[in-house]
Amino acid sequence: MAGYRELSKRLAAWTGTIGGFSRKLDRENTSYISFSKVVSVEFCSYRYLLEYVKRRRLRPPPAYFANGQAFHETAARMYRGLSRGMSPDETDLLQFLARRATPPAIELENAVRVAAQNIHQGWEVVGVEEPFVISLGRALPPCIGVADLILRRGRTFAVVDHKTGRRFSGADELQLVLYREHVRRRYGASRCLTIVDEYRWVSDLTKIRKPAFQRQVVQLRRNAWSQAIQRIANAWSEIREIEKSGEAYGWGECFRCPYKGICPKASIGFTWW
Ligand code: SF4
Repeated sequence: MAGYRELSKRLAAWTGTIGGFSRKLDRENTSYISFSKVVSVEFCSYRYLLEYVKRRRLRPPPAYFANGQAFHETAARMYRGLSRGMSPDETDLLQFLARRATPPAIELENAVRVAAQNIHQGWEVVGVEEPFVISLGRALPPCIGVADLILRRGRTFAVVDHKTGRRFSGADELQLVLYREHVRRRYGASRCLTIVDEYRWVSDLTKIRKPAFQRQVVQLRRNAWSQAIQRIANAWSEIREIEKSGEAYGWGECFRCPYKGICPKASIGFTWW
């Protein structure tokens, strides 16, 4: 199993995206865990097989994925500008967005407008799209991830996860726990808030009844870290079985699965194969 130090060194030297880094590890069959892997195998074992063992790519990428990526890159530009003392420039951000999503959907442009109006004020920007590797001990492989935004005010840190979608979906505690652990270890933070900023796809901001944006400070449970390790250990046990056998059951909610168009086990509704 590749060690934490080895992966840390490789990530520090990596000049591409964290997605490119994890795909390289997948091609080499290098062991690692990530929030995305846990979510994939928890959703359906066969989805994990398709996504990480057979490495099937969805072509074209689903709209929610492409839009989410374009939004994250634009939000990152906004916060990098803020770290240099520049206030959000909506025109610049929309032009940047247009180079990443052609043509950008009106919902995407509106999400960027809303983000510019709801920027985190009064914080120092410490990290933007910051990739990380953390050790999870000897029994588990290193965990890789990327924190959307890290802020600091005095001795208090905050880690922010940006989410986009048709509706607010709330936070997944595991993701926030991993981000917070990275901030604790990297910056020696004894106090770190975990915040989820959610942007809802809205085509006309003047005609909405429900808000297009919500910011939630998520209170993690006292035993959040041990619960996270247990959840990762369960996922890792399942992943090892799939990778060893090259086989998996299909048992997810196929109607919600992004792989249903290419999955030979897809069915309408719940399945167990
Ligand atoms: S389509 Fe269904 S069986 Fe196939 S990977 Fe998705 S959830 Fe699993």
